[in-house]
Amino acid sequence: MARVFSGIQPSGEMHIGNWLGAIRNYVALQDGNACLYCVVDQHAVTGAYDVGSLADRTREMAISLLAAGVDPARAVLFVQSHVPQHATLAWLLATIAPLGELERMTQYKDKAHRFESVPTGLLTYPVLMAADILLYRAEAVPVGEDQVQHLELARELARRWNATFAGGEAYLPEPQPILSPARRIMGLDGQAKMSKSLGNTIGVTESPEAIWQKLRPAMTDPARKLKTDPGTPEICNIYALHRHFSPEATVVEVAMKCRSAAWGCIDCKKVLSANMAEGLAPIRERTLALRAAPETVRQVLGDGAAVARRLASETLAEVSGRMGFLPEGA
Ligand code: ATP
Ligand code: MG
Repeated sequence: MARVFSGIQPSGEMHIGNWLGAIRNYVALQDGNACLYCVVDQHAVTGAYDVGSLADRTREMAISLLAAGVDPARAVLFVQSHVPQHATLAWLLATIAPLGELERMTQYKDKAHRFESVPTGLLTYPVLMAADILLYRAEAVPVGEDQVQHLELARELARRWNATFAGGEAYLPEPQPILSPARRIMGLDGQAKMSKSLGNTIGVTESPEAIWQKLRPAMTDPARKLKTDPGTPEICNIYALHRHFSPEATVVEVAMKCRSAAWGCIDCKKVLSANMAEGLAPIRERTLALRAAPETVRQVLGDGAAVARRLASETLAEVSGRMGFLPEGA
């Protein structure tokens, strides 16, 4: 039995990349592990954001997690800002985090160019992420591929902290990523990974009609200018999505009919759209039910935060003690 932690930002709606890459593993890992899952709202304020909708987006992300199968009877679900120990530990870890490594992080470099004046929080994001994980002394972290580099930093910070303050004892375990076969889903533009902040997503709660409206103009193999041009499924994002939403026999058929130009891209997308809508229907239905039960959601998040605060304050007391701080009342 491992201690598992992961987080998702309320920076927009949960999309199929989040779901396939990480959230399905959140759900699977609940069997036989001690899991904590967090809506990381403090990560979602690194840079300009819409203040008026943050609270709603946070609640909505918690609903999506519950709808996707996070079960409060088996996992602790909470909101990061309800547990102030995350930010405190982030500060302590920042004192041993190498600046050069933070500056080399791919996500930092990708996102930094969107700003005229880069906020420090964007640079120190991976330190807060390390704190999120190490605060619960988690050993396993279900994530998509884009977070693997940040997890390497979390391991390094654990090693450094253990070496400096715990006499080399592994008080903070080195967290390992748990990746899914869909570790990097590309966006509908076919240019970048699917990201909440890039507007190239399909949300897990979208209606069948909305799914179709998004798939219809989505990027395919650029060699297929005419319906009669044969395609190469391996380089087409629509084919990649079929592999996650369509039955095996359909995947084989899609590849054959693409290569022989028996189907045009629209034919292929119609089949994907139907299968995707069917696959996501249970999440959509549970989301609608949870939206109508705000008291249940409030209760789940309240209970989750209470458990998380208890675990977090234990670790933080130990960390503070080993770092030599004067305990209150001593
Ligand atoms: P943002 O654009 O605001 O960073 P995001 O879509 O990248 O949003 P996050 O909240 O940063 O979502 O990440 C939540 C989880 O989903 C992480 O484990 C991340 O690795 C995973 N993830 C994000 N995008 C993808 C993707 N395209 N394919 C697979 N996994 C993904
Ligand atoms: Mg992200």
